[in-house]
Formats: sequence, C-alpha cells, structure tokens
Amino acid sequence: MGCSHQGVHFNTVLRSDEHLLSMLGRHHVLSGFRTYSASLKSLSGDLTNQVPSIIDRPIYRDLFCMLKPNKSYLEFLKAHTLFNVYEPFIPDALCNIEGKEVLKPKLTNTFQITREWRFCKSCMAEDFDNQTMPYFRSAHQLPTVSVCLEHSEHLYLLCNTCHNRDRSMDRIGYPSGINCKACSKGLPITDSYIDEDVSWLNSTLGRLLVGDIKLPNLKQLQAAYRSNLNINDYALDPSIENRRKISIAQKALDNYFDSRLYSAFFSNCDINQGTKKTNTLHLSNIACDQKTIFSPVVHLLLIRMLFCDIDSIPKMN
Ligand SMILES: [Zn+2]
Ligand SMILES: [Zn+2]
Repeated sequence: MGCSHQGVHFNTVLRSDEHLLSMLGRHHVLSGFRTYSASLKSLSGDLTNQVPSIIDRPIYRDLFCMLKPNKSYLEFLKAHTLFNVYEPFIPDALCNIEGKEVLKPKLTNTFQITREWRFCKSCMAEDFDNQTMPYFRSAHQLPTVSVCLEHSEHLYLLCNTCHNRDRSMDRIGYPSGINCKACSKGLPITDSYIDEDVSWLNSTLGRLLVGDIKLPNLKQLQAAYRSNLNINDYALDPSIENRRKISIAQKALDNYFDSRLYSAFFSNCDINQGTKKTNTLHLSNIACDQKTIFSPVVHLLLIRMLFCDIDSIPKMN
C-alpha cells in the first residue's frame, strides 16, 4: 500500500480523541533531536502546512503505516482527523481516499479559525493532573468551534507571532500553558460571537465528528437545496430566470443570520462593500458545484436556513 517510511519508533501514544498531527510535536520533544525536521525526517516528506483542516494527505498515510493500528486507513482517518465532518461534502470524483494527495476544502484561508490549532486550558490542566502530556483534541479543531463543550470555556489559539510561517508543531510541541513557549506573550483566546445558530452549527459539527448523525451524499444534498429553492443546476440552466432566482436566494443567505455570525466565521466579510456578506458563502457553488469540496460550514449554514436541522432534509434520488 505504498508505505515507504517504516523505520521510526514512536516514544508516545496517540490518544483516542487526539488529532493525528498533534502527536508530532510531542514526538519531536521526546525524540532527542534538536530540530523538528530532524526528528521527523525519516517519517514523512509531507511536513509543511500542518493545519487541522486538511482532509487527506501523505503524512496521514505515513503515520498509519508506522502506527499499524488494528483498523483500515479510512477508519483510522475517521478516528484521528476531521474526516467524518468533511466526508458528506466530498464530490464523488474525489472520494478515493488513499493518502497520496493533499485533499482540502477550497477557500479555507477565508475562514477565521478553521486552520488554527486550539486547546482548552481546563482539558490541559486535567492532562497534567493525570500525569500525561497535554494534546490537541480533534473536537477543538472543528472549523468554527471556539468553546470546549466539556468545560464551556473559550479555547486558546497559538501565538500569532511565532506560529504563522510554517504552521508545523515545532514551536508548539503540545499545549503547555496560556503563554507562548517561544516569546512568552499571552496566547490569544477565541472569543467568537455565539448565538443559537452558532451553537447549532458547533454541536452539529461535533455530532458529525463522532458519527452521531449521517448526512446524504453531496449529490443528494445539492438536489435537496435546489428543490427547496426552486432553482435549477446553474451549469444546466444559466437562463436569466434561473439566475434571478439564485440571486434572490443568495441575498436571503447573506441576511438570514445575525451579521456578527458572518464576521465571526469569515475573514473576508464586507471587503468589497457590496451586498454580499462574504464571497466564501456563494450559493451557486454550494448548491450546484459537484467538482469542488467546500467547507462543511457553508453547507451547514445553507441547511440551517432551508431546513432548520439535519433531520428535516428531504430524501432525494
Ligand atoms: Zn475542556
Ligand atoms: Zn510567541
């Protein structure tokens, strides 16, 4: 199955609710190597851009081969990455998960915290109390989550100054306090806007993560969106009438939620001073594009507006 790196010995175990990449910083600290790249060189060639929002990538496969878990690669991804959350929104053509290519949702750069590693101060304190090294929980890395559901406390982000270039785990290691280990500045806290819709979104993402709810596949979802909005697939029907209906629905989506919600989620709000809140929330992409992966967040916002909840999405053929 194409495993080329089999020689590394891990001094640390992957925790059951830990994101896969989180163990790398701890491995580095315990490895005895001075630099991060030296401690991981024999492990994988895929070490840059270590953000939680990547769905599939070579380093996941390399870690799978090294850890030899008693499960399939797909089950491994579901247990230790955000795979379950992204899965319903992956187009058929890209569904082949094998760790050979980097697979990520488009436009993730335009989200506020999707790419950031987050941790809870109280979860970290519990780890210390249990005599274990703290780690990054997968549930804290969900695209818009800013609060620990267990402790109801705001999550901490990593230092802006020290963690903005390579986004690897070298400066981070593992959560160890609320000040940056490199420059000792206080770490930023995610004090995002929260209302009923944000809470629904966060708890829905959390339920998707643990496989508590199932969504239809992308094709069926998009058919349900279009049927509810009474619009046709834009690629098949670019007529003026269809475009007019899409534009009305776009306006509705841009104004359905509290305006603070858009700013809390998207980093490109109101940049163009146009009528659209953010270009990332583009209705015809969400409802008609069957070739690109878009963030679960934009799908769930449309689902919230159209159906209120997951259970009310009509079954389509
Ligand atoms: Zn916590
Ligand atoms: Zn710093």
